[in-house]
Amino acid sequence: MRYFDLPELSSDLLQKLGVKDLRKIPINPAIDAKPFNCLSNVNSYIELYGGSVQFGWIFSCLGHIAVKMTAHAVVKSPDSSLMCITPNEYRAELLKFAPDDSVEKLVHGGFLPTKIKGLIDNEPLNKYIDIEKELDKLRLNSKGVVPQIEIQRLKDKGAELYPAILSLAKRHTGRNNQCYCGSGKKRKKCCN
Ligand SMILES: [Zn+2]
Repeated sequence: MRYFDLPELSSDLLQKLGVKDLRKIPINPAIDAKPFNCLSNVNSYIELYGGSVQFGWIFSCLGHIAVKMTAHAVVKSPDSSLMCITPNEYRAELLKFAPDDSVEKLVHGGFLPTKIKGLIDNEPLNKYIDIEKELDKLRLNSKGVVPQIEIQRLKDKGAELYPAILSLAKRHTGRNNQCYCGSGKKRKKCCN
């Protein structure tokens, strides 16, 4: 199971996530821009071409049971239009982006945080989310270099919960929904 891009974010879901303003913005990777380096990509871009940094969030879904919001930086042109210039493996078209200036305060040593929200109240899921939160905190506080032993400890804890998470995701994915595994296919043409 891996995180995947949802084709649409329903207004109900956006409300749960506390998102009021969702834009669909073009992705035009800049030459020399690197994946996962959005802030430094944007800073290099505006040095050359002008504009400013717009912080916000992008979204990915885990098995229709949790949504991860990843802080992201894009270019704000002088005419206020937004453009993502960071290459992205699995989002080819428009990027669903929620502008949020308060993200700037959360940037730590050049690293951007994530937030994760369970869509169902379930004990193993809540524990799983706590592990993800702990991992993200470690990543931010150690400038991305988390000691391997810490990563392994958290991965082991996550692995114990995984069977329960998987069966929860199965229960919450209809046959015509995107498969919980993250393949991008409909479930009926993928896992059963
Ligand atoms: Zn599948």
